[in-house]
Amino acid sequence: MFRKILIANRGEIARRIMRTAKWMGIRSVAVFSDADRDALHVREADEAYLIGPAAAAESYLKFEAIVSAAKESGVEAIHPGYGFLAENADFAEACAAAGIVFIGPPPAAIRAMGDKAAAKAIMEQAGVPVVPGYHGKKQDSATLLKAAEKIGWPVLLKASAGGGGKGMRIVRDKASFADALASAKRESRSAFGDDRMLVEKLIGHPRHIEVQVFGDTHGGVVHLFERDCSVQRRHQKVIEEAPAPGVGEEWRARICEAAVAAARAVDYVGAGTVEFIAGSGAGGAPGDFFFMEMNTRLQVEHPVTEMITGTNLVEWQFRVAAGEALPMEQHNIAIAGHAIEARLYAEDPASGFLPSPGRLRYLEMPSFAANLRVDSAFDAGGGSVPPDYDPMVAKLICWGETRDEAAQGLHDALAEVKAVGVATNAGFLLGALDHPEFRAGAVDTGFIERNMDSLVPPREPAPARALALACVGLLLSRRQQNTPFRAGASNDRWSPWTRDDGWRLNGVGHTVLRFIDDGREVDISCSADGDGWRLDLPGGPIMARQSEGVVSDILPPPRWGRDGEGVRPPTQPSPTRGEGWVGATARAHVLIARDTGIELDGARLSATVVHDGSTLHVFHEGGHWQLGIHDPLAAAEAHEGASGGLTAPMPGKIAAVHVKAGDTVTAGQPLIVVEAMKMEHTIQAATAGKVTEVRFRTGDQVSEGEVLVALEGETA
Ligand code: ADP
Repeated sequence: MFRKILIANRGEIARRIMRTAKWMGIRSVAVFSDADRDALHVREADEAYLIGPAAAAESYLKFEAIVSAAKESGVEAIHPGYGFLAENADFAEACAAAGIVFIGPPPAAIRAMGDKAAAKAIMEQAGVPVVPGYHGKKQDSATLLKAAEKIGWPVLLKASAGGGGKGMRIVRDKASFADALASAKRESRSAFGDDRMLVEKLIGHPRHIEVQVFGDTHGGVVHLFERDCSVQRRHQKVIEEAPAPGVGEEWRARICEAAVAAARAVDYVGAGTVEFIAGSGAGGAPGDFFFMEMNTRLQVEHPVTEMITGTNLVEWQFRVAAGEALPMEQHNIAIAGHAIEARLYAEDPASGFLPSPGRLRYLEMPSFAANLRVDSAFDAGGGSVPPDYDPMVAKLICWGETRDEAAQGLHDALAEVKAVGVATNAGFLLGALDHPEFRAGAVDTGFIERNMDSLVPPREPAPARALALACVGLLLSRRQQNTPFRAGASNDRWSPWTRDDGWRLNGVGHTVLRFIDDGREVDISCSADGDGWRLDLPGGPIMARQSEGVVSDILPPPRWGRDGEGVRPPTQPSPTRGEGWVGATARAHVLIARDTGIELDGARLSATVVHDGSTLHVFHEGGHWQLGIHDPLAAAEAHEGASGGLTAPMPGKIAAVHVKAGDTVTAGQPLIVVEAMKMEHTIQAATAGKVTEVRFRTGDQVSEGEVLVALEGETA
């Protein structure tokens, strides 16, 4: 077995490969780009090498840099993961030329399957059913049109070199054929540098069913049954499962046999996936299946197969690449139960699934369960989701005796995910897993499109319960921050200086907390009531307290200083400063309460409240509400800190730039406007001075704490 390998990838898959390597006693070498300096896969590796700037083309795709890191570290093999160089035959050859084992199939098999048209021809020869259509060499429009007419409308145009759904167009009639062909070719040319097209019959309500295959260098080929990946958005998989729902033994045997024949036809070695498309048959069963393509690598969704077969496919990859025979024979591989995977992405379903790169400030994954697996790129500390790569945060995979059990388990696990700093598709995934069509196993590739409206619910104002939880979070935080003074500085528990209820001489003790909920201001008056509070919400009062007997895990690492200034010790807050004050600076992220038992009007609830910049995140029963908070101290501090550079108060978009380098400005003059949380925040000059640099333009995305404008002050 290898003693040391290099992983030419990043994120969750790099970590997943590393885990198995460690378990097998193999040392791991990571590579990273500038954007990934602080990434977990780098920290967890035994060694790590910087291979270039953020752009993938200059780092993770740059094989000279990777091969030279491999040589320098003295590894025996390279695992490419998925994506990047995983299906690059030239890279596989470059590894071989450097005397390093490429953990993947032989370059010839990658090449044979890399071209959809050539692959279809090979499959036809091997007796594997292929989608009826044209995959010939002649590429003139007339030939392609004639092929389409022969197949019958509607047809699907597909890029021969395609991948990731690029260069695909549905054409419903002759009239729209020419335009569709031109645009498919354009897209394919720009994505793959190749505009050859296939014409295929468009299968109605199809299901995407694929088979995991594995070959070794001794002529052995086995399959590890099928996965259903029909839940797709724009031809991209979102939820995957194994086995495929509604599949009978006879049908399963046929498709698995076809997949093994496909692998044998190209002398396949290593992990591979043969993808089929199937029509809808009777009674929820899939109909006829046709070969679509073969992916010559480990797939994102391989864990569902591992869960139902009790295998570790990365271990198999290492063994096969080291020359060992397959660890199991076909008759020993069996299906047990059902597994479903959901891909958690940093993307915003509410704005058309736009990727949401940025700093993931806090990530809470579901608590450990024997039937749950979380393959994540991040731990609770969060990290950076760079805009340069696929924005996947994690995969959650759940096993159950039955499909229903797996679906419910995954649903419950997803409801526990709490992410702050970037938008995620967690709510959307919950909706999909909950959907009656999905639960019935009636999945086809149109499921998401058809149900989009119900899967992406419109943003609604925070309910009273969420507002109350937000108040309790802030009030608990304040109480926590005052505790050291109570315990240490004062022996007088009745001293007004140690009270945290907004007590005032000559006044009723209360605090008004102001939230901004979806652009609307909500003021809530909170007054101490016994050991709890009375919260006067717009819809009526709610009595709140922290439940007795529940250990509150209040973790206030209050960063009292501004970023970069280190942590300064808390100074004794004065009662007036304490009014409406929550103790965190504008830029620090503070976890106020995690899974804290809170009682609202006698009902015991569990919630997590995270204070991030000027936003409060409330997580409760799968719901996630974001409330802007009006924090006078933070506002004052932000102002105070504005003399040198002027920074973004929260992640957002530059809505307007009012100044340019060289301008002289007066104190209070608006410089730049940041739009975040549907609100505009004007950054003003704290002092008079001269603008030395404006770092962004209108429309630019900025992250919290980024310096927007540099100002040279006239006076100190
Ligand atoms: P890519 O390699 O670009 O991902 P695939 O050939 O794997 O392209 O197809 C991606 C998806 O497009 C499939 O999972 C399926 O949903 C859909 N698709 C592909 N071929 C057909 C077809 N002939 N009829 C209907 N849908 C298809």
